[in-house]
Amino acid sequence: MLTSICGINWGDEGKGRMVDLLSRDFDVVCRYQGGNNAGHTVINEKGKFILNLLPSGILREDVVNVMGPGMVIDLKHLCNEIAKLREGGIAVSPENLKISDKAIITMPYNVLQDIMEEDRLTKATGKPYGSTRRGIAPVYADKYMKKAFRMGELLNCELLYRRLPDIIDWKNMTIKAYGFEPVSVEEMKEYFETYGKPLAKYVTDTGSYLDKAHAEGKNIMFEAQLGALRDIDYGIVPYTSSSSTIAAYAPIGAGVPNLKLTNSIGIMKAYSSCVGAGPFTCEYFDADAEKLRELGGEYGAATGRPRRVGPFDVVASRYGIRCQGADEIALTKLDVLDGYETIEICTHYELNGKIIDEFPFTDVLDYCKPVFEKVKGWNCDITGCRRKEDLPVEALDYIYLLEKLCGCKIRYVSVGAEREACIKMY
Ligand code: GDP
Ligand code: MG
Repeated sequence: MLTSICGINWGDEGKGRMVDLLSRDFDVVCRYQGGNNAGHTVINEKGKFILNLLPSGILREDVVNVMGPGMVIDLKHLCNEIAKLREGGIAVSPENLKISDKAIITMPYNVLQDIMEEDRLTKATGKPYGSTRRGIAPVYADKYMKKAFRMGELLNCELLYRRLPDIIDWKNMTIKAYGFEPVSVEEMKEYFETYGKPLAKYVTDTGSYLDKAHAEGKNIMFEAQLGALRDIDYGIVPYTSSSSTIAAYAPIGAGVPNLKLTNSIGIMKAYSSCVGAGPFTCEYFDADAEKLRELGGEYGAATGRPRRVGPFDVVASRYGIRCQGADEIALTKLDVLDGYETIEICTHYELNGKIIDEFPFTDVLDYCKPVFEKVKGWNCDITGCRRKEDLPVEALDYIYLLEKLCGCKIRYVSVGAEREACIKMY
């Protein structure tokens, strides 16, 4: 089985916790895009963990974790993430972690570039992209300029060090143009020595590994970071990530373009949240926003930034489901709505006096207004529910209504952050 777990909304839907739960039926979990701009919070019997780069299957002893060629890897960040997990009693070895030789290395100067550009944008336009400032856009740009380093190069640093001076010269042209101090070849060599060499033992041809695992009948899960609306092609450009977050990209980003997905499970939140800048039509403000943000604990796992929040957005979610080719949905954080007597849903957008229900081009979103409808809430604690029959009728009605409005079956409903706080609907 080749299953992709992907985000339907703007990210932070609870993908990490669903991967942690559903990976019990999988042998391999593979991250196929993005870098340490992701933040997945997972709470299980071993404790609370925040994963940025490592696949969320790392917390299960019998799961092999793969970091695919579609990823960008900050070496220092990964070393620290592994060390932190070890402190928490999680074993990480070349047996359970395999990093693609084709994955790209995020360099310290990429992080610097990200910061320089966000600061320039803020000063020049007052409208930064809302980047996590972790070097993701610059390193993907370097990849497509064919100037990036790949993990496989750590296996032969002599060759890498021969390429280094020219790339540093080229990069310093940009850094100096921003008025910053150039970086040195020596500094970068030291970076590879300190944080690259210890990771070399994990580096391998993960495509060949996954292909063999599949041929042996192993179940493989592809884990996405961020949601459909942050996809570089289909999202709200430029307020997106710089990689493909969509399920169709999973086999490519994982290193097995020859394999086809068996199914795609979309992770969709029972309300909306959006971290960073960009159009967010269903957004709540002031007291409405504060209430929902507090109830949902909506602060970024990677950055601690308060997330923007709003009610469930049918227009954006239906688009997200289409982009992800989702066969079924896991609806997360339903318990966050426990305290509402009535619950709002953004069912349509209004554009120039007309009602629309197709998600429009990014620029047009600025002119869209949300149309809210109200439904009856359940107004009681559902965090202890573990079966469909335990849920109050209003909660079931809400789930079935979203199912109908979005046109996709909801198979799982989560009612708490802990691993087992989840209901299987069918
Ligand atoms: P991801 O990036 O998609 O993996 O999601 P994040 O981990 O960034 O954000 C989801 C947040 O919601 C985390 O803090 C989770 O612990 C929490 N969470 C996940 N599922 C539930 C749920 O069903 N109920 C509640 N109350 N919290 C949840
Ligand atoms: Mg997150």
